[in-house]
Amino acid sequence: METLTQIASTKNINEAIFLKKILAGDGWMYELEPGQVLRIVDLEGNQAADTIFFDSDNPEDHYSAVATINTQSNIYLTAGSVLKAESGKSLLKIIADTCGRHDTVGGSCSAQSNSVRYAHEKVVMHNCRDTFMLQLALFGKNYSKKDLAPNINFFMNVPVTKDGGLKFEDGLSAPGKYVELISLCRTTVLISNCPQLNNPCNAYNPTPIEVLIWNQ
Ligand SMILES: [Zn+2]
Repeated sequence: METLTQIASTKNINEAIFLKKILAGDGWMYELEPGQVLRIVDLEGNQAADTIFFDSDNPEDHYSAVATINTQSNIYLTAGSVLKAESGKSLLKIIADTCGRHDTVGGSCSAQSNSVRYAHEKVVMHNCRDTFMLQLALFGKNYSKKDLAPNINFFMNVPVTKDGGLKFEDGLSAPGKYVELISLCRTTVLISNCPQLNNPCNAYNPTPIEVLIWNQ
């Protein structure tokens, strides 16, 4: 397996102001203040945390994979990556990463992708797009499906081949690996902890993640 650079956090878990476990198939939406630090932990390893970010002060402006990839001239996200919005605004920066590499090309699963990629009867299975939609509806700030956009798959391994192909592969991540981001403005986080059972992104075994927040 490849060896990737790992940057550990300096944060003390006892000083976190928020801690929540998110089961596979569940979602979470939360507004971060500028300077707050969000950690996402892959508790059991090989999970995929599908994530979109919004500018809380201008929610129509959301995370842009294309702007982020262009700005850093690299398709993978890791410590040092600045996550850009469609407008070009910097939303968050990854400041620690013990996994080493995260995907932002593979997209999220949906009823449609499950039925097209795997089998028609998979159309009824739980999927990230439905989780995103449910969270947006529950959050109650006029978010709707028009606000969904190509997302980040934290902990997911989607290597790009030499000729530009995408592969969904079993993982780089392992139990307890985490990624940590500092919010550079008021940023709303939307996570779907992927319930996918049809591809090796989570070793066919969706497991919980944990989110923690620190003030600075
Ligand atoms: Zn998914």
